Amino acid sequence: MDATLTFLGSGTSMGIPTLGCNCAVCVSATPPAPGLPEPDPRNRRTRPSVLIEWDGHAVVIDTGPDFHAQAIRAGIGRLDAVFFTHGHADHILGMDDLRPISFHNTGNLPLYADEPTAATIERVFDYTFRAESRYPTSARVTLNRLDPTPGAFVELFGVRFQSFPINHGRQTITGYRFGSAAYLTDLWDIPAESVPLLQDLDILILDALRREPHPTHSHLAKSIEFVNLLKPRRAYFTHMGHDLDHTATEVVLPAHIRLAYDTLRLHFDIAPG
Ligand SMILES: [Zn+2]
Ligand SMILES: [Zn+2]
Ligand SMILES: [Zn+2]
Repeated sequence: MDATLTFLGSGTSMGIPTLGCNCAVCVSATPPAPGLPEPDPRNRRTRPSVLIEWDGHAVVIDTGPDFHAQAIRAGIGRLDAVFFTHGHADHILGMDDLRPISFHNTGNLPLYADEPTAATIERVFDYTFRAESRYPTSARVTLNRLDPTPGAFVELFGVRFQSFPINHGRQTITGYRFGSAAYLTDLWDIPAESVPLLQDLDILILDALRREPHPTHSHLAKSIEFVNLLKPRRAYFTHMGHDLDHTATEVVLPAHIRLAYDTLRLHFDIAPG
């Protein structure tokens, strides 16, 4: 079954341009003053999120602080579900912008998250989830805990969204596979039990924060090693910081590894494997 994946955001937690930074990548990502050359819009990276669409259905993974603008840009008017990878601000703070979308659904909009992430979402958005004195126009959402078994899946309209653990520094967070594609944002390492779930991929999307090693995110050389290990047909790096200029970085990568950019749309097969 044909599906599309759209990068709503491809940047690291601070976004590119980063506030107060005048480095070449941040400057190139800033809208120019009149008369100056057009910047490279692929260096303008909002907080990480992807939209997956198939057969009239739509799901997003993570709703960060840029979700409202991303949803307008992508024309998102309704959603069937939202999956979360972990509870950091750059992945959850847009949850409240699901309100108008959730009002369009006949039932509650289902959210899926692992236990620690669900607990964080409930704490941050307590007015949405508390049983008593719930704010009356809160998002109409149901927060579902994912089965922690690696490879357990949520089935939505004939498509299986498999979840499995990945390491984000010392924290364990959730990666997802859907058909022939997988999304591993905020990845530092892949535990052994998750490796079998990442075989025979058409598209592998993974974190590549910067050139230098980082304690909680994979860096360029390490992400290339993951691609060499898992051998997807294509790989796209995301959650990128401001030391990775789009053109200068891509030119040194093999042809099957590309940098994601905001609005990039990919086609793939989402049929259950
Ligand atoms: Zn992040
Ligand atoms: Zn910068
Ligand atoms: Zn994170």
